[in-house]
Amino acid sequence: MSEDIKQNSWSIEDAERTYGVSSWGGGYFKIGENGNVHVIPDNSHQDMTIDFDALLKEIKQEKIQFPVVIRFHDVLRSQVVSLNETFNEVIEEASYRGEYNGVYPIKVNQMREVVEEIVDAGAPYDFGLEAGSKPELLTVLAYNTNPNSLTILNGYKDEEFIKLALLGRKLGRKVVVVIEKFSELTMLVRLSKELDIEPIVGIRSKMQSKGMGRWQGSSGERAKFGLTISEVIKSARYLESEGLGHTLKLLHFHIGSQLPEIRAIKDAVNEAARIYAELHKLGFNMEYVDVGGGLGIDYDGSQSANDSSRNYSLREYVADVVYGLREMCDLEGVPHPNIVSESGRAITAHHSCVVTEVVGEIKPEGAEIDTSETTSEHILLKNMRELYNSLPVNSLFDSLNFQEVYNDAVQWKEQASQAFKLRVISIEEFGKIETLYWQITRQVQAYYKKQEFVPEDMQGLDYSLSSQYLCNFSVFQSAVDSWAIDQLLPVAPLTKLNIEPVKNCSLVDITCDSDGKIDRFVVDHTIASVLPLPDLNPSEKCYLGIFLTGAYQDVMGDMHNLFGRLNEVHVFSHDDDPEDFYIEEILKGSTVEQVLTIMQYHPSAMALDVKRSIDKQVANGAIKPREGVRWTDFYEDCLGGYTYLRTDD
Ligand SMILES: *Cc1c(COP(=O)(O)O)cnc(C)c1O
Repeated sequence: MSEDIKQNSWSIEDAERTYGVSSWGGGYFKIGENGNVHVIPDNSHQDMTIDFDALLKEIKQEKIQFPVVIRFHDVLRSQVVSLNETFNEVIEEASYRGEYNGVYPIKVNQMREVVEEIVDAGAPYDFGLEAGSKPELLTVLAYNTNPNSLTILNGYKDEEFIKLALLGRKLGRKVVVVIEKFSELTMLVRLSKELDIEPIVGIRSKMQSKGMGRWQGSSGERAKFGLTISEVIKSARYLESEGLGHTLKLLHFHIGSQLPEIRAIKDAVNEAARIYAELHKLGFNMEYVDVGGGLGIDYDGSQSANDSSRNYSLREYVADVVYGLREMCDLEGVPHPNIVSESGRAITAHHSCVVTEVVGEIKPEGAEIDTSETTSEHILLKNMRELYNSLPVNSLFDSLNFQEVYNDAVQWKEQASQAFKLRVISIEEFGKIETLYWQITRQVQAYYKKQEFVPEDMQGLDYSLSSQYLCNFSVFQSAVDSWAIDQLLPVAPLTKLNIEPVKNCSLVDITCDSDGKIDRFVVDHTIASVLPLPDLNPSEKCYLGIFLTGAYQDVMGDMHNLFGRLNEVHVFSHDDDPEDFYIEEILKGSTVEQVLTIMQYHPSAMALDVKRSIDKQVANGAIKPREGVRWTDFYEDCLGGYTYLRTDD
């Protein structure tokens, strides 16, 4: 009965406020009327929705083990379309005389399916690709076959890299080699003359404008990439002297990823426009200004200049780029350049999420034991029990000083720990003291929950009494930035959000690493160390979504504890049936064999060794022959199996 009352007073709006799904969901995620998280995978088809509950059922039916990465291909396509359409609309509205020629920097997510989907969705816009290393360059040469789209090459280069770029020119592609340091330019000029292939040259300028946010080191004098103004002039003149002045076509800058502050973008655009205009007036008829990446994602849903947010919309960003360039070019009397941008995070972040199952609860108090009185107990235990018994059963709370109770309990527990080490109390007595201590602390917490004023000492109580939910995943594989750079990634239950969550928990993963945890969440529009979650119910699994993992997280995960890659499902929606979706592809995550092979082991030889040991025990009579066969098979099955916890049986 009381349960029902609770459920009735908790609404979807409460859940929305708690988890902020619509705030960070970018229009793709919301909590549906039925309390499940819904995906609206295509922002031009608002009637199309996928219910996470149905999706989880389908995954289970396909016998795919959790944890699972889910990719919503429609979200990816939708993001490519919005970026291009927004640029085209603003260009039109501003009567800007250049075009938008965007590229996707594949380092943000190099998965073949992701790159293919972006190339396909971007084809009507001649959307191109960007590479920053030789393996990425080899990839974009094979995948960006559209002669009208750009291939932008950033990063440090060797001879092979430049030769591959020139091969791209031979194939009729618009491959731009962006010079990061002067020596690359001399190499490019030499090779292009040797091979008789005309390059398209870009230069990256080290900007004075500071990017702000977490990646502000990407600009300024100490930036790792780019040319100073004097080097820009020297490079242009050098190309001219080699008879290749006309090949200098693009000016590039990138002042850092996840720019939280719109002012930084305006500043940088302004500075770049000025360099472009000056070079133009010096006789270099450049065609493109490339504004790099940096378009942010609102991970915490605050629409602020926090590191995990952004204080601007896509449209504002685009308008600042387009109008900023137009204004400077008109003032300087030079043509409007075509605009290139290299947005990776903004295109990919929303399209994938990780679904993990909560597999256990770690309570601070561990197990409770029977604390009833026995003869000849130590006084410390007696005192602790008396303290506990002195607590009122319910009401009448105000007559007691709970802070004093708590201080006594803490002190006596510390004394008990000393006494135990000094052989004064037994392990049983110590165990009882511990149990009583936690029972007292819980009551103190319950008391302060009802109070308006909570003394400072007592404010950390909720956190120290909160449970940790053990989740079947690895932070190092699936949410590496939350460990490495304190990046906030939204986490929420996927179903039953219409029921009030009753527990405040932090999350821990299954790696043997105490850093393998998530304890920063956005709850109720602020940053909290615990997330409200439902109680665990043995008859019903609890699945959590870790969202916005499509940018960087997906591909930067590492092999800590040899967990390896996750099972993946690729989800598409149906045009004709707005409620329907299908899993087009299932990619198997790493098997134990695969991760061991990467670490130089020989799994088949290992299986043979274990089999020999088993056979020896069979010969000794320690294992029955039939049992021996079963153990051998079991070892081999585990080698061929998934690396994460098995929870399907
Ligand atoms: C990383 C990188 C990008 C992508 O930046 P996002 O902020 O993810 O869009 C673009 N250009 C260059 C040169 C980069 O190094």
